[in-house]
Amino acid sequence: MNVHTPNLVSKAPHMGTTIFTVMSGLATEKNAVNLGQGFPDFPCDPHLLDLVNDAMREGLNQYPPMTGVAPLREAVSRKINTLYGRHYDPTSEITVTAGATQAILTIILAIVHPGDEVIVLEPCYDSYVPNIELAGGVVVRVPLTPGTFRPDFDKIRAAISPQTRAILINSPHNPSGMIWSRQDMLTLQEILSPTDIVLISDEVYEHMVYAPNQHWSAAQFDGLAARAFVVSSFGKSFHVTGWKIGSVAAPAPYSAEFRKVHQFNVFTVNTPMQHALARYLANPAPYLELPAFYQRKRDLFRQGLAQTQLKLLPSEGTYFQCVDISELKVPEKNLSEADFCKWLTTDIGVAAIPLSAFYGNGFDEKVIRFCFAKQDATLIAALEKLKGL
Ligand code: PMP
Ligand code: GLN
Repeated sequence: MNVHTPNLVSKAPHMGTTIFTVMSGLATEKNAVNLGQGFPDFPCDPHLLDLVNDAMREGLNQYPPMTGVAPLREAVSRKINTLYGRHYDPTSEITVTAGATQAILTIILAIVHPGDEVIVLEPCYDSYVPNIELAGGVVVRVPLTPGTFRPDFDKIRAAISPQTRAILINSPHNPSGMIWSRQDMLTLQEILSPTDIVLISDEVYEHMVYAPNQHWSAAQFDGLAARAFVVSSFGKSFHVTGWKIGSVAAPAPYSAEFRKVHQFNVFTVNTPMQHALARYLANPAPYLELPAFYQRKRDLFRQGLAQTQLKLLPSEGTYFQCVDISELKVPEKNLSEADFCKWLTTDIGVAAIPLSAFYGNGFDEKVIRFCFAKQDATLIAALEKLKGL
């Protein structure tokens, strides 16, 4: 008998481990302050935990409906209506997902046929490109404007072809913290209007926006909403990134296609947390107060960084702060961003993420990203170390 493990032909020969896993692993190994991977190091609202506990004790522990429990879909619909002025039917247009990551993969699997082109704006979140490739799509990379990370609409126009199936946008933007203006959204609407291009709008940082900026959702623009999947994440908004719960709002025909894939992808998302989030959403204060909560942390972190050699870039939204390392007075500034981040973690004791991880070709612009969703004490400890640079 020939017992052997047959070789696999990799579907993803170039895919490594995500930078977030790599840097968090290194931060733990080196006992560094972890400002790399984006997650809070403080607890969520204990009331939210009580609500999960209540739901479990009430026996809400079996499979929920495939699309998500009705109270949560209704709460999401009400929230979008209040904030962005558009009605999504909770029955046919809102689906609860296992976080934004699953939402985005499922959207892409549902709409991208082999050979279809999908435009991504780089730097972009690291799951987009592998998702498109797994679906057999062709990734069309369009750079955001170097330095400002604002959309370059001439380049976007030039990237559109008869094969373009979809465009993925992300505002507030990970990793740069840049926010699309109302005019940006109007320009995109005008560009897409004569086309059949689907918009995938990743809005997971919608509640982390700092004055005087404001979040503009695709849901607010008739011409965008009619062709958009709008993606949100409760993990980001309520400090529970490990819960992996999000939602997708899209016109009924789009939601129907989405659900065909969703049902054989995760089928359902855990029940008690859905009920808890539905009840928690009855009070808008937690997400309405989020900008002030994070703005204070951002300002504390920026004030500290201003006393280091690191050059601050703007942070209009998200919980990320990018810095330029090109003018540092240490020889390690000549390393690649990725090696610089490893050195910073190992020798200085602060983990960060290289922006090159957000580009398909590893473009290196000497910028690294810190996450400031941390207790003040964590930020102060990191700043102390960074002052020693
Ligand atoms: N999109 C962006 C831009 C993100 O930063 C993240 C957070 N990792 C996600 C999607 C995924 O969100 P979730 O944790 O809800 O899967
Ligand atoms: N969104 C977070 C980040 O960009 C976490 C991503 C992840 O762990 N996959 O850091």
